[in-house]
Amino acid sequence: MKVGSFDYTCVNGHCFMVPGLSLYGQGIMWSLGLGTPKYINLMDDPVYAEIHRMLKLFPEFQHNNEEENADILQKIFGVACDPDDDGSEFKLGATPKCPKCGSREMKSWDVSIEPKIWDVLEITHNRWQKLSSGDKKDALYRRLEQLDFIKQSSV
Ligand SMILES: [Zn+2]
Repeated sequence: MKVGSFDYTCVNGHCFMVPGLSLYGQGIMWSLGLGTPKYINLMDDPVYAEIHRMLKLFPEFQHNNEEENADILQKIFGVACDPDDDGSEFKLGATPKCPKCGSREMKSWDVSIEPKIWDVLEITHNRWQKLSSGDKKDALYRRLEQLDFIKQSSV
């Protein structure tokens, strides 16, 4: 996928250029280990829609508004994405990793002054799509528990 470019400045003042988009529903997911970028279009992604539907089946989230559920979805979506080469997860809403100091804390970012086109692979869901619907539900449940969105079951 051909995407545009963003300029970031990390907390330590290093400036760097990375792939980035400012289109609604589209963006870059960064892996937590290597910091690899992958393109995602949330409007188009069938697994994002699937997880959205699954989330609404849990009684805990049925009364949430869409904004609240979108926030939870952002935090759990990585569970359904194929991991990076080092096994680390891709995260929605993550910041890139500074190539100089490795920090993920950014001071500022904006569309690049000098436009550049990057070719970025799309996020994939091969591992998730091989799971049975029961295993998908378990995986989602575990992640929601880990993040304290649902209380640990006593069973
Ligand atoms: Zn830095």
